[in-house]
Amino acid sequence: MSKHPSLGKLDHEGLGARGIAAASTTDCQRSQTFAAAGVSAVQVAEKVFGRVVPNRESPFAMATGMNFEHGITKHEAAKLVLLYQGSGRFATKVKVLDLTNDTKDHDLQLQLAAEAEAIILDRMYHGGGPDVIIQFPIVMRPNQALLRPDFLVAVGERGWRVGEVKSYLDRDGLTDGYKVGSAVRQAAAGIVALLFLVREHQLPEDLVDTKADLVLLRHGQEGASLRTLGAEAEILSIQETLERSAELLSEASALAGGASLDSEEAVQAIPHAYGPGCHGTCAMAEVCRGEAMANGQLLFDGAGVAALGLAGISGARAAALAAGAKAENAQEEHMAKHMRRGWAASK
Ligand code: SF4
Repeated sequence: MSKHPSLGKLDHEGLGARGIAAASTTDCQRSQTFAAAGVSAVQVAEKVFGRVVPNRESPFAMATGMNFEHGITKHEAAKLVLLYQGSGRFATKVKVLDLTNDTKDHDLQLQLAAEAEAIILDRMYHGGGPDVIIQFPIVMRPNQALLRPDFLVAVGERGWRVGEVKSYLDRDGLTDGYKVGSAVRQAAAGIVALLFLVREHQLPEDLVDTKADLVLLRHGQEGASLRTLGAEAEILSIQETLERSAELLSEASALAGGASLDSEEAVQAIPHAYGPGCHGTCAMAEVCRGEAMANGQLLFDGAGVAALGLAGISGARAAALAAGAKAENAQEEHMAKHMRRGWAASK
C-alpha cells in the first residue's frame, strides 16, 4: 500500500470501518480529509498538535465487548450458526480465515484478504462454498483500507450479506438507536467494500445485500439476538465520502499551498465544522474548539449554554456582552466577565 504524499510524517492507518463510517456522518471537511488520507483524528491531534488524547472507552466495556464477540465466533462460530438455524435460516459450513488473528502483520492481512476475496468471488460466480466466513480482512478499493467485517453470511444462490457482532443490549423497541445506527454504519463500510469488488469484476451488484445482520447481546438462554436491518442510506453516504476522496485531498493541498498534512498550518487551512457533537466523537475537538474561539466563531458552548439560559441571557445578548456591550445587571456583568476571560485565554 503506497503512502499518499500529502501525509508527510504521518502514518497511513487506513482507518478501517469505524473511521470510514464516522467520516461519512459529518459535514466537516477537515474530518473527511483525514478519512480520505487514511489518517485518524487521534494521530493528527497527537502528532501535529501535541495533544494527549485520552482513551474514552472504558476497559471494562471493551473487555465485555471482546468476550461477547469471541463467544459468538469461537469454535468455528458455533453460536452464530445456531442463531441462524434458530431463525430458520440455513448456515452450516463456516470458513475461518485468520487463525492467528494478527491484525498487525500487514503482509499476512493482504494475503488473507486475497484468500477471502477468492472465496467471496467463487460463490458469486458459481454458487456453493462456505455459508459463513469469519475472521478475515477485505480491502476497500478507493483508499486501500483493510476492513474486518465480523462475518459474511451467504444469501440466495450466489450472494453475500455483511454481519456485525456488538455487545449492545437488545431491548427490542428500547434498544439504543444511536448504537444500533453506528453498528449498521460499520457494516455498511463492509458492504461498500464488497460493492467495489463486484464492480471491479463486472458482476451484478445485487449479489451484495444492502441489508446487514446484527448480532446483539440479549438476556436469556441464547444470550444473543439476530436482527436484519436495511443499510441503504449508510451505504450511500459512505460511497459519497469515498468517491470524494481524491477531490478532498487535492482541495486540502491547494488550501495548504501544497504543504503536507503534518503541520498545524496545513491542517488549520482545511475548514472545520466544530460543534458540541465533536466532543466525545472526534479527537480533534479541543483543537477545533480553540480555533473557533480564537476566530470569534464560538463564544460559549457546553455547560456555558446552560448557565446563560439560567441567567435568562439570549445568544445574541451573550454575543454583544462578549464583544464589549455594557452589562445592565449583576448577572450580565458576571457572565460577560467569564465569557471575555474564556475568549482571551483561547487566543
Ligand atoms: S473536532 Fe469536529 S470540527 Fe474538528 S475535525 Fe473533528 S469533526 Fe471536524
